[in-house]
Amino acid sequence: MHDGITVRAGECTTTFDGNRVRAHEQRGRMVAVVKPDNTVLVHDAEGYQPVAWLTRAESVTVGPDRIEAVDGDQQLAVECHEHFGGATYPASAAGTPVGDCPDCDGALVHGSDAVTCPNCDARYGVPADAAVLTDEPCDCGLPRMRVERGREFEVCVDRSCESLDDAVAAAFDREWDCPNCTGELRILRRGGLLAGCEHYPDCDTGFGVPTGTVDGQCDCGLPAFATPTGRRCLDPACSVSQSL
Ligand SMILES: [Zn+2]
Ligand SMILES: [Zn+2]
Ligand SMILES: [Zn+2]
Ligand SMILES: [Zn+2]
Repeated sequence: MHDGITVRAGECTTTFDGNRVRAHEQRGRMVAVVKPDNTVLVHDAEGYQPVAWLTRAESVTVGPDRIEAVDGDQQLAVECHEHFGGATYPASAAGTPVGDCPDCDGALVHGSDAVTCPNCDARYGVPADAAVLTDEPCDCGLPRMRVERGREFEVCVDRSCESLDDAVAAAFDREWDCPNCTGELRILRRGGLLAGCEHYPDCDTGFGVPTGTVDGQCDCGLPAFATPTGRRCLDPACSVSQSL
C-alpha cells in the first residue's frame, strides 16, 4: 500500500500474462493509473473500460518508463516508448459532502462508515445506517447524525462531543425486563450496542439494539421494533414474534 494515485501518460505497450482469456499485447497512446491498493488501470481513447487492468496486485513497481504489476501468476506490464507526463497525486476516498471541517478549511465527506476530512485527516466513525444531517451543525461545528435505536436520536458525529450510547441509555436503560430472570436490561456496549441483563455474568441474556423504533410490545413481553425490514421482537430468536 502507498498513498496517492500515480498517473503515467505516454505511447505505450501493455502486456498481460497468466490469464488465457485476458492475455494480450496492445500498443497506443494511453494513460496508466496506479491506485493506493495496487490496482492498475490502463485507459486508451475508447469507451469507459480500461484496455488492461490488474486489481489489488501483490506488488507494483513504478519506474519512469515502465509499470509492472504482479499478482500470483498474473502479470501486467506497461512499457512507455514515449513519455507524455505523469505524477503522483494525493488521493482520498470520495464521499457525500456534509459541510466544512471545523479544524481546517477542508470539506467534510460522508463515506460508508465515517465522516472524514481529506485535508486534515480528521475521522469520525458513524453507524452504517446513520443519516448525516447538513442543515444544523453541532455547536462544535461538526455535522449531526440521525440514528434509529429504539427511537430517533440526533447526535454529533463526534462521540466525544455527544455520545449516541449515552443518549440511548438515557432513553432505554432499565426500561425492559429480562425475559430469563428477575433482572432489568441495561443499555451497554459490548461489541455493538446491547440491551443486556444487569445480572451478567450470572445471566448472559443480551440483545443487539436493532435499527428502528419501538412499536408496541411483542407477546413475549419484550418490546417490538419497526425496522426497515419489518416489525420484529427485540429478541431476534423470539418464537412468538413470528406472528408479528
Ligand atoms: Zn479538516
Ligand atoms: Zn459536536
Ligand atoms: Zn437476566
Ligand atoms: Zn418476542
